Amino acid sequence: MQPVNPSDPVVPLVSQGDTHVDRLNALWKLSVQPGLSDAERIRAMLDMAAKVLDMDLVVLGEFGEHYTARYVSDRLGVFPEGTVLMVETVLCHAVHLTREPSHIADLREDPLYANHALVNQLGLRTYSGLPVSVGEDARWVLAFLRQRCQSPPDAVDVAYMGLIADWLGNALHQSAQKDLLQRIALTDPLTGLPNRRAAEERLQKERARTPRDGHGFALALVDLDHFKMVNDRYGHAVGDEVLKAVARRFESGLREGDWVARWGGEEFLFVLHGCTVEEAAGIMERLAGQARATPIQTGVGTISVSFSAGVAAFGVNDSETLPMLEKIDHALYRAKADGRDQVRVAAQSNMPWNSALLRQALAENRVRQASQVIVDLQSGLAIADEALARIESATGEMVEAKDFVDMAEGLGLMAEIDRQVVRDVMQRCVARMDQGGSTDFAHFVNVSPQFLARRDLVEEMLNNAMGYCQTCSAMLGPVKPIVLELTERQRIVSLEKLRADLQPFIDFGFRLALDDFGSGYSSYLYLAHLPVSFLKIEGWLVSHMRQDRKVAGIVESLANFARKEGVLTVAEHVEDAETARILADMGVDYGQGWHFGRPQLA
Ligand code: GH3
Ligand code: MG
Ligand code: MG
Repeated sequence: MQPVNPSDPVVPLVSQGDTHVDRLNALWKLSVQPGLSDAERIRAMLDMAAKVLDMDLVVLGEFGEHYTARYVSDRLGVFPEGTVLMVETVLCHAVHLTREPSHIADLREDPLYANHALVNQLGLRTYSGLPVSVGEDARWVLAFLRQRCQSPPDAVDVAYMGLIADWLGNALHQSAQKDLLQRIALTDPLTGLPNRRAAEERLQKERARTPRDGHGFALALVDLDHFKMVNDRYGHAVGDEVLKAVARRFESGLREGDWVARWGGEEFLFVLHGCTVEEAAGIMERLAGQARATPIQTGVGTISVSFSAGVAAFGVNDSETLPMLEKIDHALYRAKADGRDQVRVAAQSNMPWNSALLRQALAENRVRQASQVIVDLQSGLAIADEALARIESATGEMVEAKDFVDMAEGLGLMAEIDRQVVRDVMQRCVARMDQGGSTDFAHFVNVSPQFLARRDLVEEMLNNAMGYCQTCSAMLGPVKPIVLELTERQRIVSLEKLRADLQPFIDFGFRLALDDFGSGYSSYLYLAHLPVSFLKIEGWLVSHMRQDRKVAGIVESLANFARKEGVLTVAEHVEDAETARILADMGVDYGQGWHFGRPQLA
C-alpha cells in the first residue's frame, strides 16, 4: 500500500474514511440500479471510476491472440471501444503476464514506456494497471491513465481500484454465465441447432424487421418421411445419429444469413431471406434432391431419408406469425398426403385473386365496407369509426383491403374503390343521424392520391356531401363528421398538389388524418404541409410497445408532439386492456383495434 502524501497538491487531504464510504456508496448504488444491461452497467462503472479518480482514460481489455479494448471510458476521445492491438504493444502487457497490479507515476520517466504512442503522442503520464479475474479466466486487465503527472496513488485510491477490478471481474463472470445459460436454453442438445423456443423468438424478430428492411422472407417446414421406421429398424440411437447428420446437412446447405432450427422431433424450420416463394421452393428442392442422392452414413451402414416440405413466402405486410406457420403446416400436410418426398408451396391466399377478378368485382359493384370502432381512451366511449374497404369475391367471400390495395393501385382502380366506399360512408352517416345519432361521431375513410387527383370524382363526392349535409344542416356546424385518412403508400409527386387536391374538402369542413404514422409511409413532411387534425399511430408500434421500451418511448413522444401541435392521436392495433391503459396514460387520445372491436361488415 502506498502512503498518503499530505503535501500532494492535487488530491486534497480529506478524511480517508469519508471518501471511501462515499465511493462505496456510489458503487453499491450503481450495482443495484435497475434498468441497465450488463454492458451498460460495466460502462457506467468505468465512467464513475474515471470521475472519482480523475482519470482521462479507463480501459477494460481482454488479452487473447490479440488485445481487445472491450469497455472504455475515454474523456479524450482517443481510444475507441473495440480497439484491437498486438499483445506486445499494449501498456498492460506486463500486468497481464505477472497478474500483479502496477502503478507508474510518470510513464515518461520510465525507459520502457517513454516512447509508447500513448505517452509521446497522446501525452498520457500516469498509469495504473490491475489484473481482473473473471472466474478462472485470467485474460482481463483494467487500466487507468491520466495526462497529468502525479505521484503514485494513495492507499484509498489503490483500495478503490482493487474494488472496481473485483467488481468488474464478477460482473463479467456473471454476464458470461448468463450468456452460456441462455445459449443452452436456446440450443437443441442433439443437433446443436436453435431449438423451437429460439426459432419462435427469432421469427418474431424477423417479422419485426421485415417492414424496416423492405423485403420479406420465406419459411419452409420440413418433416422427415417415415422416420419412425428408422427408429424401429435400427434403434433410437441410430435415429439420433441420422437426425444429427440431417441437421448438419441442412445447415451447410444454407446461404449466408438464412437459418434452420429444430422445430420438433424430426421437423425442421427454415427461414430464407429475400426470396420469392419459387426461389425458396427451389432451395428446398435442391436439399430434397441431395437427400435422395446421398444416403446418410451411420455406424450401421447407409440409411436413406427423404423429407416433405411446406413452403410459403411472406411480404412486408404479412405481420402475423401464427397464420404464417399455419400456412406452411398446411402445405406440408399436402406434401405428405400427396405421397411424401416433395416440396409443396402454400396457396398464396385463401382464394384465387387476380386483376381480371378485381376488374370484374368492380364492374359488378362488389365493393363492400366494414367499419371498425374508434374509442376515446379516457372515457371508453365510441367516438368514431373507420370504414374499411372489402371486395366480395364471386363466391361471396370477403377479401380484405391488404389483399387487393396494391393490385388496385397498380391497375389504377383505387380511385373507383375509394369512390364507392366514400359514397357508402356518407350514406351511412346520414342514416345514422336520421336515427338520432350524435353529430359528434365521425367517420374515418381512406382516400388514395389517385382518387383525390380525379377532379370528376372529387366534384361528385362534394356534390353528394352537400346534398347529404343539407339533410342534416340544422344539426351540423362548420366541421362535418367525415375524416379523410391519407397515407403515403404511393410516392406523391407533389405535396403542394396534394394539398390543392384536398382543399375543397377542407373548405367544406372535412378533416384530415395521417394514417400509419411512424411506419415510414406517412412522414413528418405530410404533417408539415397538410392541415392535419388526427394522427394515427402505426399499429406495429402500438403492438410492440409493451415488449420494447424504445418503441414505447417513440409512441409517447409522438403523443406529446401531436398534443403540442393540437393534433389528436389515434392508436391502431390496440389488442389488450393493458396497452389501452398505457396509451391513455401517455396521453394518446383515441384507440382502435381488436380490444375495442373487430371490423364489422356494414
Ligand atoms: P411421416 O412423417 O412421413 O408421416 O412419418 P413419420 O414416421 O416420420 O411419422 P411422425 O412424424 O408421426 O413420427 C416422427 C417420429 O420421429 C416418431 C419419433 O419416434 C421420431 N423422433 C422424434 N424425435 C426424435 C429424436 O429426437 N430421436 C429419434 N431417434 N427419433 C425421434
Ligand atoms: Mg413429425
Ligand atoms: Mg415424419
